[in-house]
Amino acid sequence: MSQILDGIAVRNEILARLRPRIAKLKHQPGLAVVLVGHNPASEVYVRSKIKTCGEVGIFSDKLTPPETCSTEELLAVIADLNRRPDIDGILVQMPLPKQVDTRRVLEAVAPDKDADGFHPVNVGHLVAGRPAPRACTPAGIMELLKHYEIPIDGRRAVVLGRSDIVGKPMALMLLHENATVTICHSRTAELADECRRADILVAAIGRPAMVTAEFLAPGATVIDVGMNRVTDRAEAVRLGKADEFERKGSILVGDVHPLDVARVASAYTPVPGGVGPLTIAMLMANTVALAEQHQAAAASH
Ligand code: NDP
Repeated sequence: MSQILDGIAVRNEILARLRPRIAKLKHQPGLAVVLVGHNPASEVYVRSKIKTCGEVGIFSDKLTPPETCSTEELLAVIADLNRRPDIDGILVQMPLPKQVDTRRVLEAVAPDKDADGFHPVNVGHLVAGRPAPRACTPAGIMELLKHYEIPIDGRRAVVLGRSDIVGKPMALMLLHENATVTICHSRTAELADECRRADILVAAIGRPAMVTAEFLAPGATVIDVGMNRVTDRAEAVRLGKADEFERKGSILVGDVHPLDVARVASAYTPVPGGVGPLTIAMLMANTVALAEQHQAAAASH
């Protein structure tokens, strides 16, 4: 019987640990969320980030530049947020409209207000193993592994996916905890064989249920980052989610086959209720850590 790794429970624990830290601060921590245009998925994510701020006691300010805004206009918004003393963390919701130079915008966020951990300075700190805001999804996964006391030191970890926001920082965080890490991607040869060597497999590819039993070593721990919506009924039935499909007209599925993982892995994250809740919790954790730094620096002046 494999163990389900409950992301909601770990999220609640992370948020509970933040509340006394927030209570100790002289000023309420502040998070600015920049949402450009009207991407429906982004609107859902932003709503849930702002709601969580309210739950833990972080002040949030939502800025909504229009879909048509230029890079220069967005840079001016960021420059203003960088100057504001009530703002400790800045999050620019991705994706940005096509006409905007995403890299310039992300690099304009002051590294000490980079709530998402995407600024190259903070990525450099991660590479070097120095404290800094960390990319939220992989940082949340590390919290989950620690919570469930999954051994990492000396184990083989395979990270499937090499994006800047999940795969690469995930690999580095596992490496810093002394895992032997392999990173796989769309050009990896013998992909299933590579994945089957993993004691810990993290799948972050955005391909519904692509990771099937042949990718999984019996007894592995499997972390499924994928969030894919499937609207094909036959596919939903094949994945054992016919009931959910009948109720909702579509299903949410990860990158890992839900029936195979439950049969083969020793522990795994479900979708939904696994990795998803952890990402927002770590955004809150990054914001609180930045507020603590800002207030400690102000006190020492
Ligand atoms: P990206 O699209 O940026 O990266 C996908 C990665 O997967 C790439 O490195 C790509 O390889 C690799 N890949 C794609 N197809 C294959 C394949 N057939 N075989 C092997 N490798 C493949 O995605 P993200 O990292 O942003 O996100 C991945 C998934 O995680 C998505 O489903 C996303 O929705 C979800 N997600 C969930 C979050 C959460 O909070 N739960 C947060 C962030 C993401 P290559 O580099 O060679 O192209």
